[in-house]
Amino acid sequence: AAKKQGRNGFRFYQPVMNEEALERLRIEGALRKALERGEFVLHYQPQVDLGDGAITGAEALLRWQHPELGVVAPARFIGLAEETGLIVPIGVWALRTACAQARVWHDARVADGQAPLRMAVNLSARQFSQPDLAQCIADVLEETGLPPACLELELTESVFMDDVTQAVGLLHELKALGVTLAIDDFGTGYSSLSYLRSFPIDVLKIDRSFVNDLATDTDDEAIVVSIIALAHNLKLRVVAEGVESREQLEYLRRHDCDQIQGYYFSRPVGPLQFEQMLRDNKHLGRADIAAPARVE
Ligand code: C2E
Ligand code: MG
Ligand code: MG
Ligand code: MG
Repeated sequence: AAKKQGRNGFRFYQPVMNEEALERLRIEGALRKALERGEFVLHYQPQVDLGDGAITGAEALLRWQHPELGVVAPARFIGLAEETGLIVPIGVWALRTACAQARVWHDARVADGQAPLRMAVNLSARQFSQPDLAQCIADVLEETGLPPACLELELTESVFMDDVTQAVGLLHELKALGVTLAIDDFGTGYSSLSYLRSFPIDVLKIDRSFVNDLATDTDDEAIVVSIIALAHNLKLRVVAEGVESREQLEYLRRHDCDQIQGYYFSRPVGPLQFEQMLRDNKHLGRADIAAPARVE
């Protein structure tokens, strides 16, 4: 059959490629429209301090409120948004929305005599390669009036892979704005530890794959304990993500992890629900943060 196509011998492959290309175009169009129509929303997941059990911050997590499909999780569209470059405008939207929201909550807390609230926002590799990223963030901070110290940018190790020199330069530019920098999914990236020396990082987030099997898998325990020690030796704060059980929390607290994030305390929730948690001054239970009696 391929022979019949004569000089267009490659035509054989075209239908498949076209279908894929069309599917991509469709999704790209849908994402573009979603942005125009305001179908993206942010959910917020609290980060909780293991010292006093209080909420110290939130991570902003993107959701697509699709008119027919309902709530679409980022795993289903971030990849494509990355490839098509749409993650750049979507990311700016998320950053602006999260900062505006954080400003409101932060003001309310400070007026109430409470500690400031930190807002963590994810940045993808594609966003990180935008030459005007620092300027864009500076603009959003100015526009929203959020104190820069209240903004935490989450980057994965992958953003350092392309051009380390450029990455270090950009990180310093970001630091100069006064924001906090966190390495997300720490331990899963293809990276060397040497970058931790030269990069102005403030926080390590332990990937939830290591947290998952805590208390049952001794290898994961060793990794988690080592990451906590590494962070503290480098004077970094350490946050464990994906904490779902009392046992995991207990283990992390005993090994001096600073903060946790996960379903155990709360799933990511809409802004009204998050605000309710702040108003209720929701805390970890006493038993979760109290040191257990030592069994020797
Ligand atoms: P991430 O930044 O590592 O976010 C943590 C993910 O873990 C979130 O998934 C969160 O809902 C989930 N999670 C939190 N606690 C638990 C738990 O106890 N158990 C389990 N099983 N999962 C938990 P989500 O919201 O689906 O986001 C997935 C990823 O999508 C994020 O991973 C991040 O890489 C990306 N993402 C989300 N929002 C944005 C955004 O605004 N911009 C960019 N560039 N990426 C985003
Ligand atoms: Mg994150
Ligand atoms: Mg993560
Ligand atoms: Mg992740």
